[in-house]
Amino acid sequence: MKIAAFHTVTPERGEPGHRDVYHDVSDCPDGMRIKPANRRAGTGGRPKCEYCRDH
Ligand SMILES: [Zn+2]
Repeated sequence: MKIAAFHTVTPERGEPGHRDVYHDVSDCPDGMRIKPANRRAGTGGRPKCEYCRDH
């Protein structure tokens, strides 16, 4: 399901590229790993994550 764009302000699990993208799909595995405290609305000027691009 498509939701408003969001991104994280911190790297999570050190996964390459994870912090450099934004998400806009509610069931994106990377997006779901973002802790609520680190989650920010908007794209952050980043490219869309691969999963969110394909779903
Ligand atoms: Zn995503």
